[in-house]
Amino acid sequence: MSDTQYVLAIDQGTTSTRAIVFDHAGTIVNSGQIEHEQIFPRPGWVEHDAEEIWRNTREVVGIALTRANLTARNIAAVGITNQRETAVVWDRTTGKPVYNAIVWQDTRTQKIADQLAALGGGADRYKSRVGLPLATYFSGPKIRWILDNVEGAREKAERGDLAFGNTDSWVVWNMTGGVEGGVHVTDVTNASRTMLMNLDTLTWNEEIAAEMGIPMSMLPEIRSSSEVYGQGRLGGLVPKVPIAGILGDQQAATFGQACFDVGTAKNTYGTGNFVLLNTGEELVPSENGLLTTVAYKIGEKPVIYALEGSIAVTGSLVQWLRDNLGLIKSAPEIEKLAASVPDNGGAYFVPAFSGLFAPYWRSEARGALVGLTRYVTKAHIARAALEATAFQTREVVDAMNADSGVALTELKVDGGMVGNDLLMQFQADVLDVPVIRPKVAETTALGAAYAAGIAVGFWSGEQDVIDNWAEDKRWEPSMDATDRERQYRLWKKAVTKTFDWVD
Ligand code: ADP
Repeated sequence: MSDTQYVLAIDQGTTSTRAIVFDHAGTIVNSGQIEHEQIFPRPGWVEHDAEEIWRNTREVVGIALTRANLTARNIAAVGITNQRETAVVWDRTTGKPVYNAIVWQDTRTQKIADQLAALGGGADRYKSRVGLPLATYFSGPKIRWILDNVEGAREKAERGDLAFGNTDSWVVWNMTGGVEGGVHVTDVTNASRTMLMNLDTLTWNEEIAAEMGIPMSMLPEIRSSSEVYGQGRLGGLVPKVPIAGILGDQQAATFGQACFDVGTAKNTYGTGNFVLLNTGEELVPSENGLLTTVAYKIGEKPVIYALEGSIAVTGSLVQWLRDNLGLIKSAPEIEKLAASVPDNGGAYFVPAFSGLFAPYWRSEARGALVGLTRYVTKAHIARAALEATAFQTREVVDAMNADSGVALTELKVDGGMVGNDLLMQFQADVLDVPVIRPKVAETTALGAAYAAGIAVGFWSGEQDVIDNWAEDKRWEPSMDATDRERQYRLWKKAVTKTFDWVD
């Protein structure tokens, strides 16, 4: 076995957990991946079993190391990236979660969000402090729901026995020892999605926590995205290896795509879509329905901010066509079906399954398939589903151009859907800018690996990330302007049909 060093990234995503070993050139050596159960107890509710997630995490790390024929000795550092906002509340004394993790897409906290908005200031009550509108998406109201609804939870929380974390904190706590001294930390990017962190000082806002009824003792310590938080526990899979990077998944992808200059942006096409635009050291408040969020913070260096356009449902619409309608057998099959017709046949599909996120933030919206005639076939519906991803992206890119005052000139893309040529071409067409895919499409895991590797000196800094980034494929826009604007106008009209659905 050689002494060559590598970095291990753990990507605790919405649908699966992956572990990927990267070498110094930023290329994938080997990986492991396991999906976890999506639990839908009621309409609008989405949960994960946090214990299953931790079991899968250990298993995928084992798989990746075995496949790469490596041991912990070869790992210079571990970086973690994770589904953001998803809330885990666990008992520090038993190590057990008190309830399933409430997933970012879950809409059960609507009433809590409405009650907080009614205290004054409406949905923007906390926006100037935390960069986010009151919505079901973020962690704070999810914690409140658990404390209100799980028997005995509030008393335990007030005694200091409960800990909250997004799945980064949960994984790091377990990796570093769990009940036997696990460290309870998160990074600035994850903290920026809780609605509980002051964006300017990067500290918890006690007043907001008090209004949400969340004891401060539950909250993890906020650290930078790139520093040593602790070591893998003895007897674990990576004993004594520094855990040295944490970035929320979308911020990790931004980092892995080398979006370090002000004005650079990436779009990740996964369960949902997330466009992040680097705004540098400046906090840019949005007037067009975007979020202001932390992009990353490397150790002691200044924090870098971003504007974000979050879209709840894109790839998960493809899953829905597969699992709920049986229209296709696998996600990639959608491309062939969609390509069997030249256009959408007049059908527009607005997948407002979790309400609408950016730029609308309407939790009461529900999905709609409009423009139907007897002419429309399942192929048109498949096409409309793919187009929905591209149109939703156009809406947030328009909002970004308006907020930042500069028009985006190209879009770097990554995530599970970017293998779909038809979608990528349509995306370039509706945005009227080139769409560019990098060689390493696993930019989320890569970004977390870089954050960890930089902290331990495996990589020297951002320049290494820039040097390692390489283009794989580029799609140039080719649609005529009249056609583009006509279709986009119809899309916007379709969106209005989803409003005010929940009574
Ligand atoms: P996440 O990290 O959010 O779990 P991934 O980046 O792994 O998601 O992307 C998976 C998503 O991409 C799934 O929702 C799936 O339906 C969708 N997907 C995967 N391949 C294709 C494809 N060829 N065409 C369209 N959608 C796809």
